[in-house]
Amino acid sequence: MDPVVAHVSGVSLPRAKAHGQSLTQRSMHELSMAHGIVDQAVAAATEAHAERVVAVHLTIGRLAGVEPGALLFCFDIACKGTLLEGSRLEIREVPLVVWCAHCLREVELPGVQSFRCPTCQTPCGEIRQGREMQIESVEIEP
Ligand SMILES: [Zn+2]
Repeated sequence: MDPVVAHVSGVSLPRAKAHGQSLTQRSMHELSMAHGIVDQAVAAATEAHAERVVAVHLTIGRLAGVEPGALLFCFDIACKGTLLEGSRLEIREVPLVVWCAHCLREVELPGVQSFRCPTCQTPCGEIRQGREMQIESVEIEP
């Protein structure tokens, strides 16, 4: 069995020691996020008296610091034994948008490496969109 999988599925998760593998450390971050998403979805489903969650729709900004692939992987683990077992995680990635004080408009940046307006090259530090990570909706089976 893959040691990473065995590691994250263990109960003593918070005290689990790092193996010096970047994958393990990165996955720990996504795993705690996945647990947070599952907790919120379970709460929403319970409130709606649902027996099962079919899918969770999530929005992630490019600056949220979340690796979608790792999050999907961790989501499956976090779902085990909950109302979400077997459900899908649908991720919508939101682009990075900043305010350009020179162009006087919001501009979308092609990446997170350079915070400069692609049109006029003015440095832009006012982030308007791209940091968010939120659950848009929870699909339930009535
Ligand atoms: Zn500009």
